[in-house]
Amino acid sequence: MLDADFFRRWMTATAASVDREAERLTELDSPIGDADHGSNLQRGFRAVAAALEKDPPGTPGAVLTLAGRQLISTVGGASGPLYGTLLRRAGKALGDAPEVGEKEFTDALRAGVEAVMALGGAAPGDKTMIDALVPAVDALGDSFAAARTAAEEGAVATTPLRARKGRASYLGERSIGHQDPGATSSALLIAALVEAEGE
Ligand code: ADP
Ligand code: MG
Repeated sequence: MLDADFFRRWMTATAASVDREAERLTELDSPIGDADHGSNLQRGFRAVAAALEKDPPGTPGAVLTLAGRQLISTVGGASGPLYGTLLRRAGKALGDAPEVGEKEFTDALRAGVEAVMALGGAAPGDKTMIDALVPAVDALGDSFAAARTAAEEGAVATTPLRARKGRASYLGERSIGHQDPGATSSALLIAALVEAEGE
């Protein structure tokens, strides 16, 4: 079973990993974006970690809801509302249970990913965070490690795609040949599950 502590570790591990990789995320956002993805998420997840430390919520659902709210209010770019929606919707799906099983967590994250698709209008293959998140959720039933591999492969597989959503889509054909920054950060979010589990 996964408790509120697990979800706090997931968010703080994501914040640490975004800190480590911020420069790389911003570099990926340079050729096909506006070079702010790393700094956007760094600001957002630092705010998440600070809010969780200041006033630790007692349930898994409340942890994700608080994290999502922080991302929406602190991240200026498109990715803030999208990641915020992912976590808030997943948090809502978990309700106020003190602990959740892996199956409930998978269902909740799937609901979150569907909410991101509804909000942003992206489908798999559009070269967005969805290309890492959908395969990750599909593999989550096997293990967190399998989900991490699926997300990383999904992120790498965005390179030959043409962007159909977000800023990168303005480039049309010229978006081809670059890995999507949001799919890359989504792989970090999923990889942090493995860290949270191991602690
Ligand atoms: P901005 O594009 O506003 O500068 P960021 O640089 O923080 O925002 O985030 C860019 C990432 O957001 C993209 O790499 C992509 O993965 C994701 N993204 C952008 N628009 C959408 C969308 N409509 N649906 C899903 N993901 C999107
Ligand atoms: Mg950007």
